[in-house]
Amino acid sequence: MEKKTLWELYTPEQMEQMKQVNATYKFCLDNGKTERECVRTSVAMAEKAGYINLADCIRSGRKLSTGDKVYAHYNEKSMVLYHIGKAPLEEGMNILGAHIDSPRIDIKQNPLYEDSGFAYLDTHYYGGIKKYQWVTIPLAIHGVIAKKDGSVIDVVIGEKTEDPVFTVTDLLIHLAGDQMQKTAATVVEGEKLDLLVGSIPLNDTEKDAVKENVLKILMDQYGIEEDDFLSAELELVPAEKARDLGFDRSMLLAYGQDDRICAFTSLMAMLELEDVPERTCCCLLVDKEEIGSVGASGMQSAFFENMTAELLELCGCTNPLALRRTLQNSKMLSSDVSAGFDPLYGEAFEKKNAAFLGNGLVFNKFTGSRGKSGSNDANAEYIAKLRKVMDDNGIRFQTAELGRVDVGGGGTIAWIMAKFGMEVIDSGLAVLCMHAPMEVSSQADIYEGVRGYKAFLKDMR
Ligand code: MN
Ligand code: MN
Repeated sequence: MEKKTLWELYTPEQMEQMKQVNATYKFCLDNGKTERECVRTSVAMAEKAGYINLADCIRSGRKLSTGDKVYAHYNEKSMVLYHIGKAPLEEGMNILGAHIDSPRIDIKQNPLYEDSGFAYLDTHYYGGIKKYQWVTIPLAIHGVIAKKDGSVIDVVIGEKTEDPVFTVTDLLIHLAGDQMQKTAATVVEGEKLDLLVGSIPLNDTEKDAVKENVLKILMDQYGIEEDDFLSAELELVPAEKARDLGFDRSMLLAYGQDDRICAFTSLMAMLELEDVPERTCCCLLVDKEEIGSVGASGMQSAFFENMTAELLELCGCTNPLALRRTLQNSKMLSSDVSAGFDPLYGEAFEKKNAAFLGNGLVFNKFTGSRGKSGSNDANAEYIAKLRKVMDDNGIRFQTAELGRVDVGGGGTIAWIMAKFGMEVIDSGLAVLCMHAPMEVSSQADIYEGVRGYKAFLKDMR
């Protein structure tokens, strides 16, 4: 029996709410193309919703209790929000987690060079990308340049219509006989992903005149000198805004939906919680998932544990076991994008266990590859509880795995949280062309995701 899609189930009122949620989503995507921009946008939204900074509470010794809403961030790269519930924290939290870093191209620390009249910035890509997808598209530079005097310059070039953009060139088809014989993995090589940034030589300059001209512009317009690249984090992302996709505008085409589609829907569910929840609710937005959740801002760091320990202290739970109990008794939806079924590449999927766009939240009992390797594997009993919460709230969900057995695979942050002993399941929303410069999602799924996450926060016990 063919199940109806969300499009056939929504009331006119729900369709209206769906449009509003997607307008906010597009705003967040356009204003959050890097992990830092995501945290800043999320902090502003959280403060508007009544959240206060945990660091301020720690400084002032302000005690926290039921109904209080606090957030903390780590160097503006990862973030956690807590909405303190009625039940004691040691009984556990309901946690929504997602990552806010996305595949992209990063600029190297010694990037600027000149060759044959062109100036380039040398790069190293971030995360798993099909490199050939990232050439000949308009790219914007986003990030920060930290100066020795302690100041930090925010950089966003290529987003305003009057801004210049940048690109990586590709060989013309007429001369690409040899290139076209290569496999897709090597047709564009990593060291060829250099960014074209200039071609006018500086007057009366003997050596590297084009490079010198770029340096002059950087100094005049941004106060940046060449050595400042040493302490910079500059990311190349598509210079494109999130757009409605299709004659029927049912889908959304945008950069960075892995995993900002889950980060956004999790955050919205958290911020839209109206009543004081039964269990403490938590939303975790982390960095570095695309490169293994490593580093001080990744899920494997102590940030989440440290902040939860601080929260317990301010709530008066000074028992040294309180943190262990809180984490072990928590329940989590660890959300990351699912591979949406793409009929053009149907052979990569097993249709009974694939995620379909427009069919709501996706739960993956396990992920991993080659015999579930590297996977968290959610408990059957926990999935049963989850089914009940979703069904009781009229939430549409589907279960899936990432493609056919042995076709590939992928990892998420779920296994890291499972180490605390908490119940955790991989979940999320489906996208097409994951990790491409522009990814495709369903606007209905985004609305259903927010509804599903709210139900989990409110009703999971
Ligand atoms: Mn992801
Ligand atoms: Mn990914």
